[in-house]
Order: sequence, then structure tokens, then C-alpha cells
Amino acid sequence: MHVRSSLIELQSYVPGRKVPGAVVLASNECPYGLLPDVASRLTELTSGLSRYPDMGAGRLLEALAARHGVTTDHIAVGAGSSEVCGQILHTVCTPGSEVVFGWRSFEAYPILTTVAGGTPVQIPLRDHVQDLQAMAEAVTERTRLVFVCNPNNPTSTPIGETALRAFIDQVPEHVLIVIDEAYHEYADPSAVPDALALFGDRPNVVVLRTFSKAYALAGLRVGYCVGAPEIIAQVRKAQTPFSVSALAQEAAIAALQEHEEVARRVALTVREREHVTHELRALGYDLPTSQANFLWLPLGQNSTAFTDHCLDNGVIVRAFAGEGVRVTIGLPEENSAFLALAKAWRTRI
Ligand SMILES: *Cc1c(COP(=O)(O)O)cnc(C)c1O
Repeated sequence: MHVRSSLIELQSYVPGRKVPGAVVLASNECPYGLLPDVASRLTELTSGLSRYPDMGAGRLLEALAARHGVTTDHIAVGAGSSEVCGQILHTVCTPGSEVVFGWRSFEAYPILTTVAGGTPVQIPLRDHVQDLQAMAEAVTERTRLVFVCNPNNPTSTPIGETALRAFIDQVPEHVLIVIDEAYHEYADPSAVPDALALFGDRPNVVVLRTFSKAYALAGLRVGYCVGAPEIIAQVRKAQTPFSVSALAQEAAIAALQEHEEVARRVALTVREREHVTHELRALGYDLPTSQANFLWLPLGQNSTAFTDHCLDNGVIVRAFAGEGVRVTIGLPEENSAFLALAKAWRTRI
């Protein structure tokens, strides 16, 4: 059997660990459970599941179009924005295509790029922030796509409006700029620009959003992108047929209607984020100010040991060996459990 060597060498995605009974602060999920109306809608739907879903996700597209003030031909959906990322990459990549992004960033980018036949070009962060100047300079005639993750996962840091605008102006128009706003709802609008509102009219800008984080639907798999109809028509073709299940479509429609409850939960998470940040700094931890629902502790060589210390005490956080630890903001009592362990760690080392 002939297998592509780029796949054999590729590192697999490392999912958050699952340990029964543990506090899970490893996957940036919403800690408040399903939205109430989503939960009741899902139980009504089970009898229809012997049928295929609406392949075009028509009602979901209508709801999203109304939400963003665009026509439905500007939107493509997928089984999570990870799938949409892959669809976009398949739309533009041919063997040898370069895909530029900051590193470290979302760990799906190098995987999805390689699977689509492209070559990842990973540009080191500066002070935990994507270095847009270096990323723009890394664009060559082989570059097809650039990812900007705003705010960045796992470092939680934003790109401001001025820097983003200068970058978009600098990148040639035939290069697609994908702005991944998975954590948009958690960001302070004065620190993190709404790329859809500001750059939605640019033919080479596509904005990614997901229902997995603030909308609490990570397990159902639904995300989308918004962009120019010319590119969106092709992105839709690259979707695996019927990948967004009927349950996912209906849950997303119901979730959009519960935007007030979403905003209430986001405000709780943001308040907890400020609190945990303040407490960690008081303990002597050095961490960037987060615009997401997680924090980044740049613990370098201590990252794995810190994560093991937490796991031994029933709290799962996410280590990036040699770099840092990503800690999702959970329920207040979960955050307190984490803070107690962070405090114990300080006295240990
Ligand atoms: C969580 C996340 C996503 C969304 O993933 P889904 O496939 O929609 O669950 C996309 N981008 C980034 C940067 C993320 O952290």
C-alpha cells in the first residue's frame, strides 16, 4: 500500500484527557452544560433521526445569515469549524501550497494543512502573540492561505484592529486570509476586532466561527465560515456530505435564539477569568491577559510536571511540553480547585 509520507510523519491531534470524576479544564468547553432550550429541542428530535439531515442546512444558513446581516451565499457550515478549516484548505491547496500561521496556535492547523496536501509554514510567536509582520513576510508565490487565530489558542492573546488591518492590506489579494474567531464571544471588543464587521467585504477574507465554545455544543459538531460567495460556493463542495447532523443543525438554530443566556454565561466566564488571572498573578505567576475562556501559563520546562501535579489532584489541564499550560475557565468551584493546586505548586518549587 502506498501511504503519503507527509501523513506518516504527521503528529496526531492530542485530545484533552478524560478521567472519570476529574475537574476538566483542558478543552475550552463551556462549563454550564447545554442551553436549556437546546436540551428540550434535542429530545423532541430523536424520532426523526432515521432520515438524512437537510444536506444544505437551509434553515441554519437562514438563521446565521439573519444573525450576521448577510445573504446565505456568504456562509458555509461544517461538522465543527475544524471541518470548515479543512474544507477551506481543500479549496485552495495543491501539492506544494504553503499555508502560513503562527506557532504555537490551534493544533489542528498543521494537521488539516498536511491532510489537504499543503505545507505548513509555522512562524514563531513574539511574547505569546502572533507576529503578523513576520507572517506577512513569509508569504511567497506558493502561499495559498494564512490563518490568524484571534484570540490565539492556546496563548489567549489578541491581535488588535490596527495590526490586523495593516496585515490584511499587506497580504496579496490572491492569498486567502482565514480569521479564526472560535473565542470571539469571550473577547473584549475594544481589544479584539470583529473581523466580519470590519473586513467582511474583502474578497480574500474568510471568518470562522463555532458553536463548540460559548454555545456549549462541542459534542454535536457544528461550525461555519463567512466569506465572499465565490469562495464559499467552493468551500461548500468540499464538505463531507451530510456531515452536520440533523441534531446539530436544530441545536444550533435553537442556540442562536438563546443569545441572551449565552451572553449571561459568557459574562460569568469573563468575570471568573479576571478573578483567576488576578489570583495567579498574586501568587507570582506570569501570564498574558486572556481574551478567551482559558489562560496560558508559560511554564516552559515545568509545564508537564505542573500538569501532572494537577492531574494527581483531580484537575485536568492541558500541557504543551516545554512551552506552557492551557487552563480552561470552569465553574467557580472548579477554578478554586485549580487555584489551590497552583498555590500548592508555588510553595513546592
Ligand atoms: C475550539 C477551536 C475551534 C473549534 O473547533 P470545532 O471544530 O468547531 O469544535 C476552532 N479554532 C480554534 C482556534 C479553536 O480553539
